[in-house]
Amino acid sequence: MNRVPNRVLLPLQIDAVAPVWGAATHRLDGQTMGTGWQVQWVATGPAQAEPVRAAVQQELDLVVNQMSTWLPSSDMERFNRADAGTQHTVPDAMAEVLQAALWLADVSGGAFNPAAGALVNLWGFGPSPRYTDAGFVPPTDAAVQQALACNDWRSLRWDAVRRQIYQAGGLRLDFSAIAKGYAVDRISQSLAAMGLHHTLVDVGGELRGRGLHLSGQPWWVDLETPPLLAAQRLPVTRLALHGLSVATSGDYRRVYTHDGVRWPHTIDPRNGRPVAHGLASVSVVHPECLWADAWSTALTVLGREQGMALATEHAVAALFVQREADGTLTETMSPAMNALAG
Ligand code: AMP
Ligand code: MG
Repeated sequence: MNRVPNRVLLPLQIDAVAPVWGAATHRLDGQTMGTGWQVQWVATGPAQAEPVRAAVQQELDLVVNQMSTWLPSSDMERFNRADAGTQHTVPDAMAEVLQAALWLADVSGGAFNPAAGALVNLWGFGPSPRYTDAGFVPPTDAAVQQALACNDWRSLRWDAVRRQIYQAGGLRLDFSAIAKGYAVDRISQSLAAMGLHHTLVDVGGELRGRGLHLSGQPWWVDLETPPLLAAQRLPVTRLALHGLSVATSGDYRRVYTHDGVRWPHTIDPRNGRPVAHGLASVSVVHPECLWADAWSTALTVLGREQGMALATEHAVAALFVQREADGTLTETMSPAMNALAG
């Protein structure tokens, strides 16, 4: 991190934690959910690497076993394959994520949609077919219409008391836009429960920081920026990740081009097609990583104008990076993000 930041974002609240004197920084990493994870923690005494790794693995396994669309035996995949007209009890963690996802589906008018799995698959971003497969082509309009007919999250008839959902037929859940953030929260909480209060947790670029770095400074992270065309330089935005999480959704990761058209992996479930309104990325800062992750996807689908209106209404701290017609990038911050910038 040797670049000079152009903008610094600070938390509005400082936790009552003192730096740990005589401590060391420890680091572990691994693979999960088709991406990498990393945890760092500051502590005195023995590294505790084994219990930390076990705690991280336990949380990741729990999320994957319940919510992975890549694991045929997951609770989610069993629901996704179930016969029409069947009722299913949802395990606790999956219920927690589903409840949050349904709330956001509702307030975003379906821009965020945890039931968009059929569309996600159709466009090659689910387990199969993959857009990277030889000979893969974008779907026909008829296929899109067919998938659109079974992506209504309201047809799940979520029963919060019995924790049950209904399979109306062909509906496929996909929590890829929210589950990484949720896993980050679980890991961060699990480490805190072990007495580790100075931690930085990262799953696939979604981050949550608690306490302080070894230096007594907060955990500083630079917001992810889209790759630039030509000589333009975007400001470096550096965030003190203290009691905060950050997630970025972008149109430059997991994207393919067919016949000169770019197809990014964020789908607008309202028209069944990948988003195409020129947002290069949206970063969201929130105390909980689940919400940072889900909001960044929701705002990406809505686009800069509608996204900014919803972020303003719900006091969500968001930074929009728009790809203008001439290829240059422009940044816009929501009022809550401006407040972090001082
Ligand atoms: P993220 O990187 O967090 O924005 O999540 C993107 C992933 O979420 C995609 O690869 C899809 O699996 C899934 N997804 C795509 N579009 C949507 C949407 N509109 N609502 C919810 N999940 C989506
Ligand atoms: Mg997301």
